Amino acid sequence: MCWASPGGPSMTSSFSDEKLLVAIVDHVIPILTPYEVSAYLLLLRLSWLTNADAHVRIGKRAIANRLGTGARGDKANFEQVSKVIKGLAHKRCLEVGDTTVEGTLYAVKLPSEIVDVAAPDSTTDAHPPDWFGDPDRRRELFGRDGWQCQYCGDSVTEGSATLDHFVPQCQDGPSTPENLRTACFLCNSIKAGKSYEEAAPLLLANLRQRRMRLSSAAEDCTRR
Ligand SMILES: [Zn+2]
Repeated sequence: MCWASPGGPSMTSSFSDEKLLVAIVDHVIPILTPYEVSAYLLLLRLSWLTNADAHVRIGKRAIANRLGTGARGDKANFEQVSKVIKGLAHKRCLEVGDTTVEGTLYAVKLPSEIVDVAAPDSTTDAHPPDWFGDPDRRRELFGRDGWQCQYCGDSVTEGSATLDHFVPQCQDGPSTPENLRTACFLCNSIKAGKSYEEAAPLLLANLRQRRMRLSSAAEDCTRR
């Protein structure tokens, strides 16, 4: 398989045909609409695959003609092409340059560039929501746990509820809903800084003591 047209300039770029095709299928097609895929492949054909260079100057009407008819038989029009180009630019598949009578200059991005540039975008979790510190989110988690301590089962109130890091923070446990459990003040102070395995015997011993105290107090009441 050879991307460059016969007799055309040989490709001196850093990608192989197979790698390029795999990268397009794996990384570019999933983020594009079918129409954007067509336009991207056309512009890639006219830039990298023809001249081993990112740039191509072409008019929107020429793009519309080259894209031909859609599945429904309707011819691509100027507005559709404008929309598709806008979409491709937004998804960083190309950069739009100046426009002359010969058309608009496009710098077509290779899949590796699109993925590289897109990567920082996917880390929008740089500032994840603060489930531990935000009062509204804390209440949401207490509600999720039915306002009950997840270690002893006691009911907790707005005033007594705490959040425990199931995997402790000192062991890099995150402040995510999955790792935060509603706990009564006592259980949280016992569990603090320990893994559940380390804390379980202590939590259980404390629970037994509390139950015993409760039952002896109840006996005292009945004796009186
Ligand atoms: Zn508890």
